[in-house]
Amino acid sequence: MDWRKVTFKLYPRVREAERLTAWVRLHCELYNGALQERIEAYRKAGKSISYYDQQNVLPQIKAARPEFVELGSHALQQTLRRLDLAFQAFFRRLKAGQTPGFPRFKASERFSGFCYPDPAGWKLHQQGQRGGTLRLGSGQDAMAIRLRGQHRFGAQAKPNDLTIMRKNGQWFACVSLRVPETACARARSDHQHRGVDFGLTDWATFDNGQTIANPRWTRNQLARLADLQRQRAKKRKGSVRTKRLTHQAARRHERVGNLRREFLHQATTRLVTTCALIATEELQTKNMSHLARGTMQKPGRMVQQKAGLNREILSAGLGMAHQMLAYKAVEAGTRLHRSNTRQLKPSQRCSGCWEIVPKTLAQRVHVCPHCGHTMPRDHNSALVVLIDAHTPGTGVAARPKPLAPQRAKSKSVTRETPTTSLRL
Ligand SMILES: [Zn+2]
Repeated sequence: MDWRKVTFKLYPRVREAERLTAWVRLHCELYNGALQERIEAYRKAGKSISYYDQQNVLPQIKAARPEFVELGSHALQQTLRRLDLAFQAFFRRLKAGQTPGFPRFKASERFSGFCYPDPAGWKLHQQGQRGGTLRLGSGQDAMAIRLRGQHRFGAQAKPNDLTIMRKNGQWFACVSLRVPETACARARSDHQHRGVDFGLTDWATFDNGQTIANPRWTRNQLARLADLQRQRAKKRKGSVRTKRLTHQAARRHERVGNLRREFLHQATTRLVTTCALIATEELQTKNMSHLARGTMQKPGRMVQQKAGLNREILSAGLGMAHQMLAYKAVEAGTRLHRSNTRQLKPSQRCSGCWEIVPKTLAQRVHVCPHCGHTMPRDHNSALVVLIDAHTPGTGVAARPKPLAPQRAKSKSVTRETPTTSLRL
């Protein structure tokens, strides 16, 4: 059994959307009430209230406020658990010597949604070719909300839990499925062996010289986003116009995210379904995108340039791509080889003679002084990781490594000589 998560966009009718909004408001009220209770109990009696204390009060709340009943008791428990998690995270970080923020009261407009932790109280129906409905609640009051899209796992997949989310005024249902491994499998149409170098100039460069251009979603939107921010700065704070512009900017960010995710899904799926072996290097985005601003003691240099580079690195979505490649490769039965970047140094190594040829990031062409091999830099790196994947173990260490023990030996010999001479 494997777990898969699928997110559907919901298309509630006006009355359904109103009801969902009311439910989110009630969940938010419960969350805030529980938080208030914890704070007051501690202030007045020095007592800390546990999750179970609060869970046991839920029946009384439902008796006094019948509107809570239709939300489902497990969904209500889940909201209390969410608060409990917030407290656990707070104390854990406090213990670790960090300075966490205390769990906060939330405005219902900003409350993201609620969650059903088990398959009770809702049902996912997939109908026809490309859609379905989500049934929420029970009996005559149940809602049947239309949704777009279907998951690819068929009838064998068992829905396990559901999260209803609200984002920029749109509703989404995120369903966890338990899927048998056979239903996860992807059919492979070809069995190529490919080395790939992911980067910014081109999003991907292959060992055969082919490339996939970098779509640069964020950069293309920057001018428009800056324009929206300028407009908003001129409006009165809290006015309808400010809100409208904020919403527009949020939608634009969302769109960039959607475009990026779609591109990554398509590119990674194409890769795993055409390749029997994909060779690439371990990802190090964290090391790549250093904080440009620096610290008080050590302010950063070239802040603007570095910030721009960071934005581009994060925008290319390489981290997301590597995650997708990893699980999709398993599904397609593709071998994913990830070379150790520090040992192999694919961008510095010559794919012709395996010598290290140091280059700066600005040098886009690899010219080997040892064997005369000349090739675009990224193309060369892709070839290096592919060679490494074909010769596991030996590929990295074959030539440069043996030198080290020899040097160590000769050193120990010179150190020994004086002692022997003293003895004589
Ligand atoms: Zn060479």
